[in-house]
Amino acid sequence: MILYAGGKAAEHTATAGPGHFAPGEVMLRDLHKLVRGLGQRLLPAPATAPLDDSEWRRLRLDAAFMDLLPPADLNALRERVGEFLGRKTFKGIGMRLDPWQQHLIAAYACLPILRIGIDAYRDWQTVIVYPDTFAPEQEWVDEAGVHHQAVVPQAGEAWERGPVVLSWSDIAADGAVIVHEMTHTLDAGNGDVNGFPPLPRTLPPAEWTDTFSAAYRRLQEEIERGDEPAIDPYAATDPAEFLAVVAEYFFFSPAHLQAEWPAIYRLLGLYFGLEPHRWANEIPTRLS
Ligand SMILES: [Zn+2]
Repeated sequence: MILYAGGKAAEHTATAGPGHFAPGEVMLRDLHKLVRGLGQRLLPAPATAPLDDSEWRRLRLDAAFMDLLPPADLNALRERVGEFLGRKTFKGIGMRLDPWQQHLIAAYACLPILRIGIDAYRDWQTVIVYPDTFAPEQEWVDEAGVHHQAVVPQAGEAWERGPVVLSWSDIAADGAVIVHEMTHTLDAGNGDVNGFPPLPRTLPPAEWTDTFSAAYRRLQEEIERGDEPAIDPYAATDPAEFLAVVAEYFFFSPAHLQAEWPAIYRLLGLYFGLEPHRWANEIPTRLS
């Protein structure tokens, strides 16, 4: 599902081609970000809003995955959550979003950047939460006076700069939705949302492109043959969705992903800098 506002998946074709799981045309923008990043390093450290001990205890009780984290990862999560709460703005639309709900969202949102770091989320600012499934249906009249009604993505700027849009009913049932949407924002970090996020230097881009393209083709072939796919067939709709869906499996069904798609699991392990299969075979995704 594309809840990440302005996700371009609808424009993607269903087959992997140039630019899918590969550097996009707009990677030059990385240069601008690099320059901006260098400038930011000269500025005072950005805000953090760390949780106090009682807030942290409550979060550990309510976000069940946290009890499975080794102490070093749990400490890193507490740091990331403080950074997330200090730098991101929450906006409830049609609902009041209390601090507890914000803490829960932050806990899940910080899993993908536990080791990558909060800077990977620097291009967007706001988390918008609707009470129920987000359906951005809009009506407008064009210059010719013709009335239109359609589901349209958020404003163009939203694609790279957020906001991230979530539905509380969806994420309360399954926190993996948050990881899914956050993975789209990481994917957007070098311009295109195409299954090719900015990679660490230790990860050869060609290996990423080849492995993900092959896995994506395999999934599409399995579905075409009528086989039962090993992962949610929604991953076959678009390379960006493939990445977001396998990220959900990586964090919450690591043993399954490692068994079925070992090459993908290994690359995601290098990318996220984590080994969730050591936490547990299955990681709970419930909120509270
Ligand atoms: Zn998606």
